Amino acid sequence: MQVYIGIDGGGTKTRTVVFTEQGTQLHDLTTAGCNINHHGWSGAEASLRELFDQLRATLPPTAQVAAICLGLAGIDREPERLRMEFWVANQWPEAAVRVVHDALIALAAGTEQREGIVLIAGTGSVAYGRNAAGVEARVGGWGYLLGDEGSGYDIGRRALTAVLRQNDGRDPQTALTELVLNSYGLREPTELIPLVYGEAASREQVARAAHLVFEAAASGDAVALSLLAYAAGELAAHVVALLQKMNFTAQRIPVVLAGGLFFAESPLRGLLATALPDHIELRLGQPPVFGALRLAQAGR
Ligand code: BGC
Repeated sequence: MQVYIGIDGGGTKTRTVVFTEQGTQLHDLTTAGCNINHHGWSGAEASLRELFDQLRATLPPTAQVAAICLGLAGIDREPERLRMEFWVANQWPEAAVRVVHDALIALAAGTEQREGIVLIAGTGSVAYGRNAAGVEARVGGWGYLLGDEGSGYDIGRRALTAVLRQNDGRDPQTALTELVLNSYGLREPTELIPLVYGEAASREQVARAAHLVFEAAASGDAVALSLLAYAAGELAAHVVALLQKMNFTAQRIPVVLAGGLFFAESPLRGLLATALPDHIELRLGQPPVFGALRLAQAGR
């Protein structure tokens, strides 16, 4: 029995699906994140090795892995892509291995049209487009220190800053203070310092605060609402920059939204729709991991 594996590796988590060639789903697993810019090469490889061991232990004995495609956040340049592809190919000598950037799998999951844009807002953010002539371009996604505007990390960091600024008396009261203290189990705002700079600190811990911003915004908190407006503006600017960089021929250009910040009821979708031109059609695609699966099956 031949099987195909699709993997979507992000900063916070990695999702994997395994399907037989007949289209039967064997696995749908969620394991630790594997972004090399967050966890380093050894951390990312350790997460993937653990995932691969788990897969090997649970695949039926008759299963032959025909192809694997990994779409990975943080694999932003060709040297890193080749290095990771080489490493994965060594782990799976029997399979056709392909490693791509996470935007590619999200686009493949979101549209079958040749032309389209994908906008990811998860722990990180990025926009990526491909037009009918096959021209591809990318905007942003340069990691939590150099880019990722409007991402979970960016919103989360700004939310934690807002809590400290309120504590200093520089900024208005915000419901975020109570939400943050409760959610992280802190007694007072300055305990954020060891949480964010301490040895056990992680990018994901900061990004988690973005969900508290959605919660505070839902109850009308002005600071949270302005953070979401800022994020929508930054994310829209990614798409506008792509539209300026490349020519699209379709009358309506699909923009596939992917990543944890675009959950079903996310107010970011409405905010983005008002910030973008009318010929943009925002859509939620299938989860990106199915784009990885599709690329594995296509043997591309
Ligand atoms: C990573 C990009 C990724 C983006 C969205 C950023 O932090 O550097 O590679 O595409 O997040 O996941």
